[in-house]
Amino acid sequence: MKVLFPGTFDPPTFGHLEIIQRAARLYDNVYIALTDNKAKSNAYFEVEERKELLLQIAAPLKNVTIVVFDGLVVDCALKYNADAILRGLRNGTDFDYEYQMASTNYQMTGIETIFMASSPQYAHLSSTLIRQIASCKGRLEEFVPAAVEKYILQRLNP
Ligand code: ADP
Repeated sequence: MKVLFPGTFDPPTFGHLEIIQRAARLYDNVYIALTDNKAKSNAYFEVEERKELLLQIAAPLKNVTIVVFDGLVVDCALKYNADAILRGLRNGTDFDYEYQMASTNYQMTGIETIFMASSPQYAHLSSTLIRQIASCKGRLEEFVPAAVEKYILQRLNP
């Protein structure tokens, strides 16, 4: 079975990585679908930067592929013949939004969305939080993989 894990990953965190690792154990193939929605996205990191970071952190997982898409998640899922869309759930706020998205995507194409509950140690992590800490030169090592921390430090302090 193939699953598509879409997101902005701006930047990738331990929360993302944990979901990817768990999905790689459950599914034959995991497609990480990186959003490159130039018109709507105001991502801090360029898509090429986010892709490179995802490539580095997912390198040990041989059944994980990074793909970039612009448009609807359902179209990307169809393109890669995914059996389901995967989303992480951290809290009730995530659930309210994700339930709406999952129902819409199902109504549009019949594709299922699978939810994976975040582990408690990562449930508070978000890319927004990481960007805020990084902008104040705070320590990131507990929140993001070492490759991501190294890149952010270089990028912010060239
Ligand atoms: P999006 O803009 O599509 O929500 P994100 O990069 O913020 O993109 O999130 C991508 C996916 O990763 C979402 O399903 C989100 O719920 C999940 N996710 C993000 N942070 C965590 C975390 N700390 N634990 C578990 N899942 C997470």
